[in-house]
Amino acid sequence: MKRVLVYLGFVLLLSGLLLASCSENQMTDKKGNYDWAEKRAAMVQQLRVYAIEDERALKAMSTVWRHKFIPEEYLGVAPPYGDHPCPIGYDQTISQPYIVAYMTEKLNIQTGEKVLEIGTGSGYQAAILAELGAEVYSIEIIPELANHARKALTTEGYEQVKVLTGDGYKGWPEHSPFDAIIVTCAPEDIPQALVNQLKEGGRMILPLGVYMQRLVILRKKSGRIEKVDDLPVRFVPMVR
Ligand code: SAH
Repeated sequence: MKRVLVYLGFVLLLSGLLLASCSENQMTDKKGNYDWAEKRAAMVQQLRVYAIEDERALKAMSTVWRHKFIPEEYLGVAPPYGDHPCPIGYDQTISQPYIVAYMTEKLNIQTGEKVLEIGTGSGYQAAILAELGAEVYSIEIIPELANHARKALTTEGYEQVKVLTGDGYKGWPEHSPFDAIIVTCAPEDIPQALVNQLKEGGRMILPLGVYMQRLVILRKKSGRIEKVDDLPVRFVPMVR
């Protein structure tokens, strides 16, 4: 009898341990919300430390689920909420959170503005712009990434974002003029078609250059372009 009780106790202990390890796995599962919410809060805290001050941009960054825009097979490659770029396939990356927040802050997007993004990539930056109330048009040259972004944007509730598979050098004339343009891949020179598609008073932010790149901020005033050089950066090239 005693033996049976010891045996039963052992079985109960084992199943308890098994259950505990299952629920532990669930908490740290790739899709587990609690864990990611904590990571997202830490990311936003880090952005504050790096002097991002725009509360609207910070709120958007704490609202959008960054891990949902990184293709699942890459989630284990680099922590999705760490302050670094993460691979998304096809030799492309999702920009580091600081750069996303910085460019968003600089553009100062207002609700209802029409915004063009060049380089949809994962769709994350487009989601941030949509979260700020912008009407977002985004162009991606790699069809597989454009498809991935469309899916991620739809499942995350940003189905109103329009993604075009095509060449960003041409812009999207049918929907121009734009209040703001954000380029997330680096051309050597400022693409003239994009300047043409910018509204009077509109602003554009883009990384410029090949090896030594700089963020450049443009504003169209009385048909002329005012240009300010900003941070040194490292983006993937804008291909032709
Ligand atoms: N904004 C993205 C990151 C972009 S990475 C995000 O939030 O995830 C840069 C993207 O620009 C890549 O996906 C690359 O394929 C795309 N790209 C490069 N050249 C392009 C071009 N000429 N037109 C459109 N997209 C281009």
